[in-house]
Amino acid sequence: MPKAEETVLEIDLNALAHNFRTIKSQLKPGVKFMSVIKAYAYGNDSVAMAKKLEELDTDYFAVAYTEEGIRLRKAGISKPILILHPQPVNYAEIIENCLEPNLYSARTLQLFIDIAEKQNQKNYPVHLKFNTGMNRLGFTEADYHHIPEKLEKTKSIKIVSAFSHLAASEDWKEREFTLSQIYKFKDLAGKLLDDIGYQPLLHLCNTSAIFNYPSATFSMVRSGLGLYGFANDPNLDKNLKPVGTLKTVISQIQNLEEGDTVGYSRAFKVENHTRIATLPIGHADGIKRIYGHGKAGVFINGEYVPIVGNVCMDIIMIDVTNIDCKEGDEVIVFGGPQHVTKLAGDGGTISYELITGISQRVKRVIIE
Ligand SMILES: *Cc1c(COP(=O)(O)O)cnc(C)c1O
Repeated sequence: MPKAEETVLEIDLNALAHNFRTIKSQLKPGVKFMSVIKAYAYGNDSVAMAKKLEELDTDYFAVAYTEEGIRLRKAGISKPILILHPQPVNYAEIIENCLEPNLYSARTLQLFIDIAEKQNQKNYPVHLKFNTGMNRLGFTEADYHHIPEKLEKTKSIKIVSAFSHLAASEDWKEREFTLSQIYKFKDLAGKLLDDIGYQPLLHLCNTSAIFNYPSATFSMVRSGLGLYGFANDPNLDKNLKPVGTLKTVISQIQNLEEGDTVGYSRAFKVENHTRIATLPIGHADGIKRIYGHGKAGVFINGEYVPIVGNVCMDIIMIDVTNIDCKEGDEVIVFGGPQHVTKLAGDGGTISYELITGISQRVKRVIIE
């Protein structure tokens, strides 16, 4: 791998393929795989990921917003794409781009039927979401009756899947609650089958649930985080390979003496002779201010180097006093010796937020 000469997010498609196959090997034969590639494939590159995942024969894609789906269609992605969180204002574009909406309430179901009827659609594929305890989106048991009532009167749509989302699939302390969600989902899915007379795909498990609740995979799973190399558990992480490596370089080294200060608000005060290296990455790239003041660090030649002072918009400073390094040397922000989960934890957040937060101005380099 060539040394980084500027800030780049290296994206390893072989690692993606490894993770896809590892997760798939957990599934009973015939269980379908929905690859969740929302938010630029968790901060990586949704088009590059989607192309690779199509090659690996994923069954389905999911993104959050309609624009994300349109982007994939424009790039030539042809597998079905579920839009997890569309708004009624998007429905015409959804149909135009052969995307499949999640209909999560009586209101959204009716509005989508209205549009599909107006366009003389027949059996347009849609997905229904049940709220089994997450209390975010979905039909509860109490509003379930709207579904058969509305479907009875139309042939414009077809329910290709019904799904729900687990609130705490990574947390063993919440096992009882998760099991209650699984039972509720089974119950609602059973009602739906009775009412519509055909069996849609059923899916409930995200990455953690695939590993922690293997008997609840139903006919499809939805994996996001696992594809990118993490599974909310150090033991599971070991079997997966991080896809993204965030690298940068040393722009300049300052030799400072007692009384000197570093950066905005003079936040770092030098006590003895100190070497400070300046890196071209900052909070506008997704390395938040919380990582400053020694809270977190980066790696140079395998050695941990703390971030000092305030994180700036386009620059961070690190203390390399005891590190053998020079201007132009490569620096690893995450990947390799720096695990995303550890860095995220140092900043008081989780891997999901750290990786999706790497801004689009960071150059993506695809490696295969
Ligand atoms: C983001 C998302 C997923 C993926 O979850 P991971 O933990 O990343 O595997 C699955 N289902 C829904 C509804 C989501 O919003």
